Amino acid sequence: MSLSFSDLKLQSPLLTALAAAGYEQPTPVQLESIPAALANHDLMVSAQTGSGKTAAFLLPTLQRMIKRSEKPGKGPRALVLTPTRELAQQVEKNAQIYGKNMPWLRSVTLVGGTSFGQQIRALSRPIDLIVATPGRLMDHMRQGRIDFSRLEVLTLDEADRMLDMGFIDDIETIVAATPAERQTLLFSATWDGMVGKLAQKLTNQPEKIDIAREEKQGKIDEHLLYCDDSRHKNRLLDFILRDTSIDQAVIFTATKAMSEQLADRLYENGFSANCLHGDMPQGWRNRTLMDLRKGRIKILVATDVAARGIDVPTITHVINYDLPKQAEDYVHRIGRTGRAGRTGLAITFAEVNEYVKVHKIERYLNRKLPEQTIDGMEPTRKRVSKPTGRGRRSFNNNSNNPKNGNWNNGNRRNNSAGSGQKHRPNQQNQANRSRSGSPRSVSSQAKH
Ligand code: AMP
Repeated sequence: MSLSFSDLKLQSPLLTALAAAGYEQPTPVQLESIPAALANHDLMVSAQTGSGKTAAFLLPTLQRMIKRSEKPGKGPRALVLTPTRELAQQVEKNAQIYGKNMPWLRSVTLVGGTSFGQQIRALSRPIDLIVATPGRLMDHMRQGRIDFSRLEVLTLDEADRMLDMGFIDDIETIVAATPAERQTLLFSATWDGMVGKLAQKLTNQPEKIDIAREEKQGKIDEHLLYCDDSRHKNRLLDFILRDTSIDQAVIFTATKAMSEQLADRLYENGFSANCLHGDMPQGWRNRTLMDLRKGRIKILVATDVAARGIDVPTITHVINYDLPKQAEDYVHRIGRTGRAGRTGLAITFAEVNEYVKVHKIERYLNRKLPEQTIDGMEPTRKRVSKPTGRGRRSFNNNSNNPKNGNWNNGNRRNNSAGSGQKHRPNQQNQANRSRSGSPRSVSSQAKH
């Protein structure tokens, strides 16, 4: 018999909100984390994006807020730190969904790239939940706007990523300002290295919960395509993007410049494409994500950092145009598809001289990526080391099942089907900004 949310001792305001959100059953990470957090244990949870980890820490945190705080003051009762602005906004949005039957609940997102005014106004009244990126939270703390004396729960979401982004000093300063008797909930893809040491320091006899990485695998079909060079890669990409089964796709590039360049090229080729990267002012980033959510953008070309909080169930395809710099980013990237129980297709391009990077990812995953070719578009250059030939499959004209991730040359003719409308709401704006000399780069905010 499977357990329901009410078996986890969640109270009715949350249960009705979950039913309204269409959640029928807790996911494995929720099954394990919610009872332990409700019992006031500290947690160290390793779970991937897409596993339902946000609800795993928000639900027990919100349940505390059904009762009034016993402490006076107006400071936050819970703080969630996230590495990126988009993830912070996503987490607060989820808190509003789960807390919709708690009309007294007040939450705010404190992230860079947005005006201080609204954030200061929110902080001037009693606040229950703050979701923040470390940099902007520190700005408010320096101005004496945050009193942590009421804080009951501190959550670090994607803690490993926050450390990768250089937030260790900020995190230590923030934690030092919180009460020692707080509950600490840590979520991270790994506990190796610095993040493990930090976890030891921050937690008190934590319960360790490890949700197997394999959990998501059945839902995402993965393909690895080798190519000779960037021209060959672009030909493969154009072919793939004509696939009629693409609802929406996220394409990952290694650099911000490449994300812009590729989005421009695709847009010129008739795709409703736009880019998303950390140097774009927050307003553009929000608009672009909204356009994606509303289906006004079919193809989003993004860098790793900017794409971390994207939770759009209609993304059917993830394309790794460039390989990720770190092996674990592969998992985060492909987790943008196959969300909310749907299936997805993740296609990874690797140039023939990049096999070492591919092996690194495969070692991290502890499995091989299924290598494939497209008929008539196979790589001609040889790889220098032994090829990863096992399990190699070739697409041919009979494999006409785009839903299964197969393409054939028949799809190629269907240019209009894959291209969507020529609609790129932010592009003109962006072009104007760069021409008028406004800074494209706001690198001091890029991390927040
Ligand atoms: P997360 O891993 O927190 O980013 O969640 C991934 C997606 O799963 C989000 O779209 C959530 O709204 C959705 N989700 C989380 N928990 C459940 C659940 N128990 N049932 C159905 N969908 C869920």
